Amino acid sequence: MHGHGARPNLCHYADCERSSPGQGFPRRYNLFDHMRRVHGWQGEKDEGSADSSGSRKARTQKRKPITTSAKVEKKPKLSKAVQQQQQRERQRNALNKEWSTKKQSIAGLLASLNSLGDMNEDHNAQLHKDIEELFALREQYHSGIKEELAD
Ligand SMILES: [Zn+2]
Repeated sequence: MHGHGARPNLCHYADCERSSPGQGFPRRYNLFDHMRRVHGWQGEKDEGSADSSGSRKARTQKRKPITTSAKVEKKPKLSKAVQQQQQRERQRNALNKEWSTKKQSIAGLLASLNSLGDMNEDHNAQLHKDIEELFALREQYHSGIKEELAD
């Protein structure tokens, strides 16, 4: 173990000759100086230096949040024609959904009737109402977009 205690501060760079036992530096200051000079090391400042507040302050200092406009960024403007096309598509999808539901309701009511004797005025009224709504949807399907265009 002779000589080991004299140069206990070995270089942190494994491929450096000063990283071998006995080849280190007597003081950490010398080691850090060596690593900075030889290896371009940018680690801690001089050992025991009381002035560590400088770098620390810089590290903990909060960065200003970068306010990008990414969130509010709007999609590239679509042409009016494309917008109308999409609007029309949405309307028609919604109307088709409604229509499908209404249709099933009518079919369900009819399916529940087994004979003419089962039919009563309530069914009559209900069916009329449903069919009217069914065709009202059709009106919207064909005319709804025209109001949009007229605007
Ligand atoms: Zn070294």
